[in-house]
Amino acid sequence: MAGPQNEFTQVTKFIPETFGEPGMRTFRINVDSASSTATIWLEKEQLRELSRAMQKLAEETSEVNEVISSPPTELEAAGLTTLDFKVERLAFGHNPETNMFIIDAHDLEDDFEAPTVRLWLTRTMINEFARTGLKIVNSGRPLCPLCEKPINSEGHYCVRKNGHRRVYPGEL
Ligand SMILES: [Zn+2]
Repeated sequence: MAGPQNEFTQVTKFIPETFGEPGMRTFRINVDSASSTATIWLEKEQLRELSRAMQKLAEETSEVNEVISSPPTELEAAGLTTLDFKVERLAFGHNPETNMFIIDAHDLEDDFEAPTVRLWLTRTMINEFARTGLKIVNSGRPLCPLCEKPINSEGHYCVRKNGHRRVYPGEL
């Protein structure tokens, strides 16, 4: 398997972000490493899955919690690398030799088999990311109590009411 096209081993910022109005939000991962940055756009469901996978793997690897984390800094991307792409797929795992967590992200418009970027992350980083990520994905529009679809603040014509009347957030 081909190695990643870029590696970020000295990550100082790794946070999920969201922009826009409820129902039209966009989501991204914002990463700084040494003098490089990456902006990785993803779908809400991808952010939810990634956050859950982080929580699960953090739990499963907790027995190696005490081992010092040491990323392979010699692999760090060339200075001032700037990446900004929409992700096709994400792979997440734990590297036992370094006790670091790894994310491989593939650019949707990139034909290479190798990941566009590999991020090396500490346990603290993934725990904080997962907490914020789940808060972000769960803070969208409230769900209709009848049909469980999201409702805008102006209400929606509920299929469970045959579309005859609006259901408003907080109703029922
Ligand atoms: Zn409804």
